Amino acid sequence: MSRFLSERLAGLSVYTPGEQPKNRKYIKLNTNESPYPPSPAVLEVLNRGEAEALRLYPDPECGALKAAIAKEYGVGTENVFVSNGSDESLSFAFMAFCDERHGIVFPDITYGFYPVYAKLYGVPYEEIPLRADLTLAPADYMSVGRNVVIANPNAPTGLAIPEDEIEKIVRSNPDHVVMIDEAYVDFHGEGCISLTRKYSNLLVIRTFSKSRQLAGARLGYAIGDAALIEDLERIKFSTNPYNINRLSMAAGIAAMEDRDYFKTCRDEIVRTRKYTVRELRRLGFDVTDSRANFVFAKHPCMSGEEIYTKLREAGILVRHFSLPRIADYNRITVGTPAEMEEMIRVLEGILTP
Ligand SMILES: *Cc1c(COP(=O)(O)O)cnc(C)c1O
Repeated sequence: MSRFLSERLAGLSVYTPGEQPKNRKYIKLNTNESPYPPSPAVLEVLNRGEAEALRLYPDPECGALKAAIAKEYGVGTENVFVSNGSDESLSFAFMAFCDERHGIVFPDITYGFYPVYAKLYGVPYEEIPLRADLTLAPADYMSVGRNVVIANPNAPTGLAIPEDEIEKIVRSNPDHVVMIDEAYVDFHGEGCISLTRKYSNLLVIRTFSKSRQLAGARLGYAIGDAALIEDLERIKFSTNPYNINRLSMAAGIAAMEDRDYFKTCRDEIVRTRKYTVRELRRLGFDVTDSRANFVFAKHPCMSGEEIYTKLREAGILVRHFSLPRIADYNRITVGTPAEMEEMIRVLEGILTP
């Protein structure tokens, strides 16, 4: 830290991303990336011509990408904001809608970026505890009179609440923005984009990172009432008008349009998730009913940290959080069937004395 750093920033804690190992080849199940490559249509558009066009700035309006997203979800382009990863949509939404007056609430166990943004932007926040079984009690968020952000399905638990509960939360907080982070929704169901037509205070945030195999492209989007989107654009045009680079823009359009490939990968991951849950339970693990592309599991005979360490020694990287209520768990990304079989085989060895 330099002696020049603003005092406001000096005490902040930052988000810790999952490790991207460089030295050794791991079966990488720690950051919820897709085990499959991007759509062949993506590989096709990232050609020489597109590379040559890099001398030009990208379209600051992101018109073609917005149109592809709007078409897929049956909304208008004025209802779509696109961002450099969905993290940027979340960041801009915190910046745009949260302040001293409009604090925010979110679960005590959820995506680690929410408290980071709240502190960075000086937003008063409250963490509402999940129930003992890690499920979220929707009633806790009704009529809270503050902004709300909920990941649904939640991370790292993988647990989801039904759409009609989301609607009640949105309806009961008409003077506040309810942000639903649907990073994992494609592995669960339809999500609540359709509700954005009915409620002007609902912002749905999604990403190309998990279910569209483009984590490296950094692409996310937010869907909501045109006035909310306009507010996000105001932040973007005050910070970084060219937030989506040309290659990612082209890749995103191709990925969004290749609906068959998207569905094939998603279905395969959901199938593999079911296999993984079944096998982990057979080995005695306590596994949540994950609706995401990861599972969240603990074992009665071994600590979460020990399982993490032993898997790592065996060349398998998962995510362990040394946090109060979930230190016994590991979050394991659903990989290919072969990767999951290997992980189960290794776990069997670890757990057999
Ligand atoms: C992965 C993730 C994101 C962010 O994804 P981006 O790669 O920035 O699009 C947002 N929210 C949750 C809950 C996530 O798990």
